[in-house]
Amino acid sequence: MKFIAVTGGVMSGLGKGITAASIGRLLVDLGYRVVPIKIDPYINIDAGTMNPFQHGEVYVLKDGTEVDLDLGHYERFIGIELTGEHNITTGKIYRRVIEKERKGEYLGQTVQIIPHVTDEIKSWIRNVAKAKNAEICLIEVGGTVGDIESMPFLEALRQMRIEEKDGNFILVHVTLVPLDAGGEQKTKPTQHSVKELRELGLYPDIIVGRCKEKLKESTKKKIALFCDVEKEAVISNEDCDIYEVPLKFREEKLDEVILRKLKLEKRERRTEWEDFVRRMRELKEEVDIAIVGKYVDVKDAYLSIREALKHAGVHVGCRVNCIWIDSERLENESVNLDYDGILIPGGFGKRGAEGKIRAIGYARENNIPFLGICFGFQLAVVEFSRSVCKIKNANSSELSESSECVIDLLPEQKQVKELGATMRLGEIEVTIKPGTLAHRLYGRESVFERHRHRYEVNPEYIPKLEGRGLVFSGWSDGKRRMEILELPEHRFFFAVQFHPEFKSRPLSPSPPFIGFVTAALNFRREKLKK
Ligand code: GLN
Repeated sequence: MKFIAVTGGVMSGLGKGITAASIGRLLVDLGYRVVPIKIDPYINIDAGTMNPFQHGEVYVLKDGTEVDLDLGHYERFIGIELTGEHNITTGKIYRRVIEKERKGEYLGQTVQIIPHVTDEIKSWIRNVAKAKNAEICLIEVGGTVGDIESMPFLEALRQMRIEEKDGNFILVHVTLVPLDAGGEQKTKPTQHSVKELRELGLYPDIIVGRCKEKLKESTKKKIALFCDVEKEAVISNEDCDIYEVPLKFREEKLDEVILRKLKLEKRERRTEWEDFVRRMRELKEEVDIAIVGKYVDVKDAYLSIREALKHAGVHVGCRVNCIWIDSERLENESVNLDYDGILIPGGFGKRGAEGKIRAIGYARENNIPFLGICFGFQLAVVEFSRSVCKIKNANSSELSESSECVIDLLPEQKQVKELGATMRLGEIEVTIKPGTLAHRLYGRESVFERHRHRYEVNPEYIPKLEGRGLVFSGWSDGKRRMEILELPEHRFFFAVQFHPEFKSRPLSPSPPFIGFVTAALNFRREKLKK
């Protein structure tokens, strides 16, 4: 088994996750089985309780674990499906150690960070890599070297490096190479962060320098000299589209350096990723999609949706421009919504919900392609109930205790007092009605999609809604829960209770997104013809 650890220096937000995922892609292209593990040194057990305003989107894995959005990059770049074990947090490690201690498994010893916590970290990593039959295990340590929280993890890696045979463990350190006022590439921050790493007993084998532009030969030379790595192992990572990073790395011969250092043979290279990037670069047409949400100021709050639109765009043949619209603004001002498509993403709570309902109504009445996701699906039901079924005070019980809750908790959920326990999470089978738009998009009668919600379409209202033309074209749980809705009369009006964005990959885009972007492109072409 080979291990590649990825650490970060200087500051957070350098795109360490993208770097690690891109290394994964390079190795997958060479036919290696790569298994990623993300270490998040925070004390939370998982990201389920974390606020998107602070951390960006909560990503949901197949098994329902709620994780940091970097795991999404891994799934998209490496093209695999991960589970909760691929995400280690301080909370999870300490929980295990404390459980063992309570059971008396430490036989009376004093339980300490070294060796007990570090042993737990190492065995977690090795067990997952082995269970998943990895040839290469990628370990990304979140945060920045020097953070107190990450110390036990870096110490565990230091020990692993000694324990693993030569050529089985390498460390890639990602740092920032800023430009000074005169445009000169500065290496001092890199030197300092490598020094910090060394003080912890860790030595980088490869340094990836993030920079606005390509690293100059002289910059690489300087980093190599001062940080004691080979010049070939200083890799330039200039600003570019995230999907281009693996290709840029290959130009820098990072794959060859890794194979040499890990004593692995070169295998025949697959080229699908290159083909995808080439198609992405050559897109000629474009569409403008309005995304109406609550967290539009946070860059990464709807990351997977943005990526899913991009994947679908490359598939369909157009660039997708996202126009972010704050749903609260729609409640008080008149905001232009005349775009090629309107998307309402997932969400929670009252703030901005009426604005989203307004946007849905606008899309429905003006025959603008519409995609609703999770909360967007529920609010589409509310909008239709109010405007078409004339249920004046229709609402979701999440938003108001109004007497007409067309979206509501199922009876068994109402009994549970603790909110955390009632979330419906992870991959669940959805049955699709033949002959519907959903069926045409997916091309099958059963699909597995990931969920993260509590509320459901209230079954009492289904006959009334369907009586007025709304079609529920997908359901689960023996038809107790509605999963997909559509309006056959409309150009494209499609909403889903699940989150298809989590399963979209560059090389296999999500069917609802393909349908939506196709409809938006056709709509735009029609408008241009006029
Ligand atoms: N707030 C809604 C629910 O809990 C929708 C959740 C979401 O969009 N992820 O059911």
